Amino acid sequence: MARLHTYTAWPPGSSAESARFSARRYAAECGDLALQFDAAPRALLVTALLARCLRAADTRPLTAQALWQWSVAERLQGLLAVALATTGPNTTAVASCGHAGCGQSIELELELASFAAPHTVHSASGVAPDGSALLCRLPTGDDQRAWREFADSDTAQTTEAGERWLAQRLVERVADAPPTQDWSLPTAWLESIAALLDASDPLNALVVGIECPYCGGHNNIDVDLEQLLIEGLRRQQRSLIEQVHRLACIYHWSEAQIVGLPPWRRARYLAQVEAHFS
Ligand SMILES: [Zn+2]
Repeated sequence: MARLHTYTAWPPGSSAESARFSARRYAAECGDLALQFDAAPRALLVTALLARCLRAADTRPLTAQALWQWSVAERLQGLLAVALATTGPNTTAVASCGHAGCGQSIELELELASFAAPHTVHSASGVAPDGSALLCRLPTGDDQRAWREFADSDTAQTTEAGERWLAQRLVERVADAPPTQDWSLPTAWLESIAALLDASDPLNALVVGIECPYCGGHNNIDVDLEQLLIEGLRRQQRSLIEQVHRLACIYHWSEAQIVGLPPWRRARYLAQVEAHFS
């Protein structure tokens, strides 16, 4: 029997009309255990997680094909929604203090809801170094996938070649007209385009400022939010597999039966196992 899930709207607190999509808890059904966190490329993992746990505002399921077409920024919003539904309102990043003679480990408590973008952004406009108006679309999951293929191919000699290839793909209009077929992106524009995209997707290169509690020094810490959220979900999968193992050893129930139990009942059985067999 299909499990009924509770879906939480994103952005948090949004109404049925204003919600962009909603998410259920990950590691709540057997199929969730099929995700190979160590083997899959990150973009593929994000698509698989979102396809399992998100649904559209009109409650229809979202296909992997549709999710590949979402911008990287929107995919991160989706991952935030899944993390919120799975692991609760906060996540913790750990970094080392960069001040000489300190190097202590600092914990950053991050509130997931604080990263909710109010609306979906598809493109960014700015000015090229030669003064031309510039319109770029934000990179999508498909771009990430294509970029990876390009980077693995023989044509990609340098990192700059890869960046240039991606940037050219993203430019939609130059001086209010679509670029011509033979137009080639000037290398000098790369920096402007990178800055334009960063400004439109501030979470992509997130930097959090914090005072070190040990030495009092100020640190600007780069936070890879996507990686942090994936790690949290990976831990949930590992924990569920451990629970299945412990209960299967004692009660000889199937994986599907154990995963199908509501978490509170699973916790009660595990407490019984703990009390009687340890
Ligand atoms: Zn310090």
